[in-house]
Amino acid sequence: MSAALKRGWCPSLFRPMESGDGWLARIRPREGVVGEPVIAALAEAAARHGNGLIEVTSRANLQIRGLRPDSIAPFTEAMLAAGAADPDEAIEARANIIVSPLLGADPAIAAETAEIARAIRHGLADPKFAGLPAKFGFLLDGGGALTLGDLGLDIMLRASGAVRWELRCGGNTLTLDAADAASRALGLAAEFVGRARPGPARHAGPSRLGFVACVDGLAGAVLIMPPFGQMRVEQLAALGALAREYGDGGLRPTPWKSLAVGGVSVSDAAALLAAATALGFISAPGDSRLDIATCAGAGRCSRGEIDTHEAAAWLAARRPAGAALLHLSGCPKGCAHPGPAPLMLVGRAGRLDFLTDGRAADPPALRGLSLIETPAVLETAA
Ligand code: SF4
Repeated sequence: MSAALKRGWCPSLFRPMESGDGWLARIRPREGVVGEPVIAALAEAAARHGNGLIEVTSRANLQIRGLRPDSIAPFTEAMLAAGAADPDEAIEARANIIVSPLLGADPAIAAETAEIARAIRHGLADPKFAGLPAKFGFLLDGGGALTLGDLGLDIMLRASGAVRWELRCGGNTLTLDAADAASRALGLAAEFVGRARPGPARHAGPSRLGFVACVDGLAGAVLIMPPFGQMRVEQLAALGALAREYGDGGLRPTPWKSLAVGGVSVSDAAALLAAATALGFISAPGDSRLDIATCAGAGRCSRGEIDTHEAAAWLAARRPAGAALLHLSGCPKGCAHPGPAPLMLVGRAGRLDFLTDGRAADPPALRGLSLIETPAVLETAA
């Protein structure tokens, strides 16, 4: 088994990270898509070797929770056997590349996007990149119906007209030919070896949800989201079956923590959305669960002082859609939403502290609320 990581690093398949509910590992979809065989193998292996919980991360990865020290190696082997990761550990460690979520499913995405992604991915295997800062990342936006926006990644490449790409890094921009895009991006990355990252990544903002039409208007993608960023393996497996029935069979994690199913015809979109909703996924804007940011919480994180997911689901059912953002944090660390939130509940010894317009670590206005007391408090404060 490879070395495990301390907190604050970027886990991968080969280098899991310890968390409150065991060890977590990440699958980084190659060229943005998790194919049918990987979905099936992942659901089976995460159930067998983990605690059955899977998350979509803001780096568009899948995060498998609850691995045990003795199950990490068989989980890794199962994932490699399924082709979920590159056997080259160096590539897996450094290939933080977010690509256009609909790559391979949207014909409007620049044709060279996948090739550039592959070239960067394999280029990063060079030992000279071993000293890249942790979490150093690339963004590769080929255009199309679902563009990536500015996620503040360290090196950003965007398609800009026929076979021309715009490269941005640390406030500088240059335009170059597609044929040079990967080598110039790698050349720039080499300058950051042993140095700090140019700046922090930005929050991706809310996901589009529902059907997104691609160029011809007859087909497109369906975007759905696991509530509070987490799904069970059974939900993943069932969603994989729906992707096979209605789409191209793959699942595409997005930096907005949603999942896209590509290759869906307009006539099938409603049926797919209804089936995903029945599985428990959020499939449309306006769902009150989208107005709550929450973290792993008790039972999934050793620092959690309250079961955040249970509390968030209970509260969402009692809040109107479009209510002010509520950050429900398992402890004062505030992982789910590091900035200030209009409404803030923080777990403390099984109860909740409350404040407005602040961070989880700020002094609370009210202490020790029971969950049942909180809807009235939130309503008064909004
Ligand atoms: S905020 Fe606290 S409880 Fe929630 S994930 Fe972070 S450390 Fe764990």
